[in-house]
Amino acid sequence: MTTTTTATPTTLQDCRALDAQDPLRSLRAHFTLPADTVYLDGNSLGVLPTATAARVADVVAREWGQDLIRSWNTASWFDLPQRLGDQLAPWIGAGKGEVVCTDSTSINLYKVLSAALNIAREASPARRRIVSERSNFPTDLYIAEGLCKERGLELVLVEPEDIPSALTADVAVLMLTHVNYRTGAMHDMAATTAAAHAAGILTVWDLAHSAGAVPVDLQGAGADFSIGCGYKYLNGGPGAPAFVWVNPRHAGRFWQPLSGWWGHAAPFRFTPDYQPAAGIGRYLCGTQPIISLSALQCGLDVFDAAVPLGGMPALRAKSLALTDLFIRMVEERCAGHGLGLATPRDHARRGSQVCLTRTEGAYAIVQALIARKVIGDFRQGDGGTGPHLDILRFGFTPLYIGFEDVWNAVEHLRQVLETGEWRRPEFNQTNAVT
Ligand SMILES: *Cc1c(COP(=O)(O)O)cnc(C)c1O
Repeated sequence: MTTTTTATPTTLQDCRALDAQDPLRSLRAHFTLPADTVYLDGNSLGVLPTATAARVADVVAREWGQDLIRSWNTASWFDLPQRLGDQLAPWIGAGKGEVVCTDSTSINLYKVLSAALNIAREASPARRRIVSERSNFPTDLYIAEGLCKERGLELVLVEPEDIPSALTADVAVLMLTHVNYRTGAMHDMAATTAAAHAAGILTVWDLAHSAGAVPVDLQGAGADFSIGCGYKYLNGGPGAPAFVWVNPRHAGRFWQPLSGWWGHAAPFRFTPDYQPAAGIGRYLCGTQPIISLSALQCGLDVFDAAVPLGGMPALRAKSLALTDLFIRMVEERCAGHGLGLATPRDHARRGSQVCLTRTEGAYAIVQALIARKVIGDFRQGDGGTGPHLDILRFGFTPLYIGFEDVWNAVEHLRQVLETGEWRRPEFNQTNAVT
């Protein structure tokens, strides 16, 4: 990476001054974080909200242990997926009654992609392709591949710059992840959706790296279907339920394929035939994981606490300030060590993470940083046609990351590179989960 700044180098005091002026500073107190850790992996597994442990204990000991089956009514367990959906809705530009929190992102993708294919192909059976990005998150591609196999359709994978020319008359659905997991590059949802619609194509947006991280306006973009993750920026806990949104113009049109009893219009009438619930309720399948949903609620509650402090505009401003600072300081302090930048500098195209590239040693550098309690992660190069570049990925969650954390992270990175510490054998052994 070449140095592009001529301004005076950033100092630790500068970073502390930025923290002192940060209107969101108080939100960090809503989380339980190890004191000496700089956690830059909230885009992969969010941190623990302080309220979660007591909430989960209460659900287990009182709601389940004491109140037993009555809690479906008395603790409103039954409509928890809808209530959490309503709580999340304003953060993704959705309306009340349009979102449910349920199942996993992969499963929800199967539901909405099936529904989107049904709608598009009913209008025009000649549409037999799904278009996506070659560097989309693998589970999205695998689910699409499975559906294509099941239905005799075709999955077409293209580079982001080739999406417009791929929107041809034989395409049913454009399936994209809004913020790319590997590079942090963000699509223009409104413009891309408009281009798809102009070609008669429906859109499915994966918000795994967007919900709670960047402004999202599903309604404003006129998007068709959307899904996203509960355990990343929403801090719902490992394996937290995901969410699903369907534009009201489609929500009542098709059964989703997993037509279980929780998506029935009246599950407790126990009729032998399936009558789908009106709207988004039909995207539920079976009995919900109440303990996990309760933990997810604690994650969403912190976002409610961010509203009086400026809400998403303030979170976005801080996220961009953090990622700008990280990029600038890496350029100032780690120059000459073969690092590149995979994340767009353009704010309009950047999510809430910074991805650095290196031809060699990226995994070991990340391991050496983790040993120093600076936690980011490694993602393998995408095997494309260019030079092989692995990725060092750093997520910046403005709810709890501060500017001094940026300073510390870059200082550790500089030391790991300058001392060659990353070459040690223990940092070069691959773990099962990277
Ligand atoms: C993290 C992520 C997922 C995760 O899917 P799971 O079903 O929760 O394992 C899916 N898609 C994208 C784009 C992701 O980033």
